[in-house]
Amino acid sequence: MTCNGVGHMISVEEALASIREAVHAKSAERLPLTDALGCVLDEDVCSDLDVPRHDQSIVDGYAVCASDFSIRGVQKNSGSIAVELEILEEVTAGSVPTCKVKSGNTVRLMTGVAIPPGADAVVMMEHVECRDEPHQRRGIAHFVDAHVTAGQNIMRQGKSIKRGQLVLTAGTTIGGVELGLLAQVGCSGIRVIPRPSLAVLPTGDELLDPSMDPPPGKIRNSNGPMLLGCGRQLGLQVRDLGIGRDNIDHLRRSIEEGLSADVLIISGGVSAGTLDLVPGVLADLDVQAIFHKVSVKPGKPLWFGVAKNAKQTKVFGLPGNPVSSFVCFQAFVRPALMQLAGKLGDVEAPLPTAVLRDRFEGVGKRTVFHPARLHRVAGGTEIECLQWHGSGDLRALSGANALAIFPADEKPYAAGRAVAYQLID
Ligand code: AMP
Ligand code: MG
Repeated sequence: MTCNGVGHMISVEEALASIREAVHAKSAERLPLTDALGCVLDEDVCSDLDVPRHDQSIVDGYAVCASDFSIRGVQKNSGSIAVELEILEEVTAGSVPTCKVKSGNTVRLMTGVAIPPGADAVVMMEHVECRDEPHQRRGIAHFVDAHVTAGQNIMRQGKSIKRGQLVLTAGTTIGGVELGLLAQVGCSGIRVIPRPSLAVLPTGDELLDPSMDPPPGKIRNSNGPMLLGCGRQLGLQVRDLGIGRDNIDHLRRSIEEGLSADVLIISGGVSAGTLDLVPGVLADLDVQAIFHKVSVKPGKPLWFGVAKNAKQTKVFGLPGNPVSSFVCFQAFVRPALMQLAGKLGDVEAPLPTAVLRDRFEGVGKRTVFHPARLHRVAGGTEIECLQWHGSGDLRALSGANALAIFPADEKPYAAGRAVAYQLID
């Protein structure tokens, strides 16, 4: 772990490299399937059975001997072929056939039911007229225009998955489909990298609960709900630490509480103001500073460190301005959370690019993350940098679905140039 970033401003690339170096994926745990959504698998998974377990019907219909349709077909006046077969039984989902199908008879069965012995094809219900004979339990199925080929509408045993087959490999992120697949192959618990826990502490004496009407000098705490929401959008367990006051003892108590999480985000109090007490309190609590100040716009005062506790809590001090806080979350905290969750591939993937819609003048000495909107156009994607009024302008940000990234020390970008961007959730 290096701490050469403390004291002087480092580049975005250096900051990201320091974060990458300091963060490690969490240790794997066995979780019930119901808690594993969004987690990365830490084991290969093989099936404990064939899917389907037996030859089964893929439609609601009648199991027949295909040969009955070449031998027994009767040419009707209209020229079409008609076949009549005796219905032996009806089998609904969850039951198994008890009869063997022989020439001249059929079994009515529903989707997913096993094919009865003797049958080699299924005719869809919609192509059959069924005459239930009064006083007879069985009835007659009347097949109109039935051209039947052996094997039709049957899914063979093990066609989707063979017993013992590898169905998911370690490293896969579990989405809804994977949960279904795991359930299908008999996994009710699974080894995964658990989701990181995230605690959020907005700080500032000016902050009020959103329900309050702020008197002069006060503002509503918007970073708290925003950062908690960003964490929840990533599927994380988040903890709201309430509002931290610009007071060493109060900050100390709140930060100590937050150090029980994998990641603690503190917003505000990391700049150069008189009451920017956060870095000092963190030092007192044995959180080792890795860097303070990054050459990024907005977000320059960003602070990052690692606690010397069992969890090695990663602590981010984000500047209090709402857009700065948001940009720092997306650009620096999100990759750390991804890496903790075992999703390093996501962090290391190259950034996508889009074609700049209008000339962009706002480049400078620092890397710029500018709120932007992507547009799908014929032949590609265009990116429009949105009008905004600095790092307090959350309203402008709400129309953005991406952050356009302009490297430091560049000349203004002409329209039509490729620009890297990061999607925002
Ligand atoms: P600071 O980084 O503490 O100097 O704060 C910079 C600016 O961001 C100040 O104008 C604060 O009022 C504002 N700010 C700080 N924290 C929040 C918050 N939780 N919600 C909204 N604005 C904030
Ligand atoms: Mg403050």
